[in-house]
Amino acid sequence: MTDINIIWQQCLTLLIDQYGELEYNTWLKSLSIKQDADKILVVAGNRIVEDFVKNKYWQRIHAIITELTNSELSVELTVIQPSKINHEEQHANKEAKTINKKTSTKIDKELLETLQIATKLNLNYTFDTLVRGNSNQLAYAIGMHVTQKPGHKSHNPLFIYGGVGLGKTHLMQAIGNEIHRINPKAKIRYLHANDYIQDVVKASMRQGFDELKKYYNGLDLLLMDDIQFIAGDKTKTQEEFFYTFNTLLDKNKQVIMTCDTYHKNINNLNERLISRFASGLTVEIQPPELEMRVAILKRKAEQNNINLDDEVAFFIAQNIKSNVRELEGALNKVIYHAQFSHKRITPALAKEALMDIFALNSRAISIDDIQKTVCDFYKIRISDLLSTKRIQKIARPRQIAMTLAKELTDLSLPAIGLAFGGRDHTTVLHARKTITTLKLTNKELEKEYNLLIQMLNN
Ligand code: ADP
Ligand code: MG
Repeated sequence: MTDINIIWQQCLTLLIDQYGELEYNTWLKSLSIKQDADKILVVAGNRIVEDFVKNKYWQRIHAIITELTNSELSVELTVIQPSKINHEEQHANKEAKTINKKTSTKIDKELLETLQIATKLNLNYTFDTLVRGNSNQLAYAIGMHVTQKPGHKSHNPLFIYGGVGLGKTHLMQAIGNEIHRINPKAKIRYLHANDYIQDVVKASMRQGFDELKKYYNGLDLLLMDDIQFIAGDKTKTQEEFFYTFNTLLDKNKQVIMTCDTYHKNINNLNERLISRFASGLTVEIQPPELEMRVAILKRKAEQNNINLDDEVAFFIAQNIKSNVRELEGALNKVIYHAQFSHKRITPALAKEALMDIFALNSRAISIDDIQKTVCDFYKIRISDLLSTKRIQKIARPRQIAMTLAKELTDLSLPAIGLAFGGRDHTTVLHARKTITTLKLTNKELEKEYNLLIQMLNN
């Protein structure tokens, strides 16, 4: 055994200690080591392993090898040499070659690189780990369906929208991971819209638009996260995206996007793009209701090998309503708190751990606040708001105020009706329906509504 192999064995032993046998067997066991004249290479069998190791273990592996070899050699992670690439990739490469008539070695190399470029998918974001409930039922089902027939006209592009932290990125990547599982040859790329903007900026600096087009147009599945970021005045980005988008759709390659609002409400986005976004299938993810929040907490606790009583799960879920990310954050806080204080997780402990969050959320918004803020905003009088006047200038703000009251307070529909000049609860219900529908088609109104929420929360 050469020195480097002994060092590698020591390194692996340390890694088993730290990460456990399961992770070792899944990700680390298959790695090998090689020493060149000027560097040490840790070799992964394929790009998925490479990507995962890079994200999760590389810092540690790098540190151990550097420490053990005590040398100036650089330590690098690489994927197995092209001559040894696995059968599937060779096959894909061959196919690509026949499509491309100019088979020069340079192009071979480029193709290989393209094949090896990581999908950038997070392997933890799968359908299995995504809890299903009323608020994402439809989105979940549609997502599953897309994995069966990627690129089909009935759902291309797929446009997923909803508020922050509701699981849009998770769902989108679950679709990507599932399509990858079904067809490992599929060229998949997940990216955040900001990364796309960067790519376009870089391409424009080196006049490299052909390369950019070639890369993106060659994908089988493009997952573009937070598409609202390409809105604004970055005309060139939108132009490039429009081109790529159309090319992929024309080739029946699946495009999936997420966004924080309904597409027709994205400000500063080219109309052509908006109508293209709308041409496929659009689905919303809504905030999870109590039952689902409880289910998510229990699932996350289980993943952490923590036993969470129903009582505690309910307590946290009742108090953290905004989104799943905050729910996760709250649970982590409770777990840490219990570990540090060596106490059992009880509702009292959860309350203590989450005190600061509760303090932030606790300032209750009153119906008076809402009425006053809406009247100031629309420059009308409170007496008019509470009157029976039906002219739109007054009736619309009244409907908005009632909707805000339902959303921001715990008051019942009859109580809200009463506070608005003694109206019937069906009037409140009707107002809420009207405003919810209007928000979908009227950008201006949606903006005003969100602004009012912001003002009330401050
Ligand atoms: P978004 O992209 O909508 O802002 P994310 O997909 O990043 O939200 O989700 C935020 C966090 O909440 C992630 O860690 C994600 O795994 C988790 N999450 C969201 N929805 C669910 C769900 N239904 N089940 C389990 N975890 C979820
Ligand atoms: Mg996201």
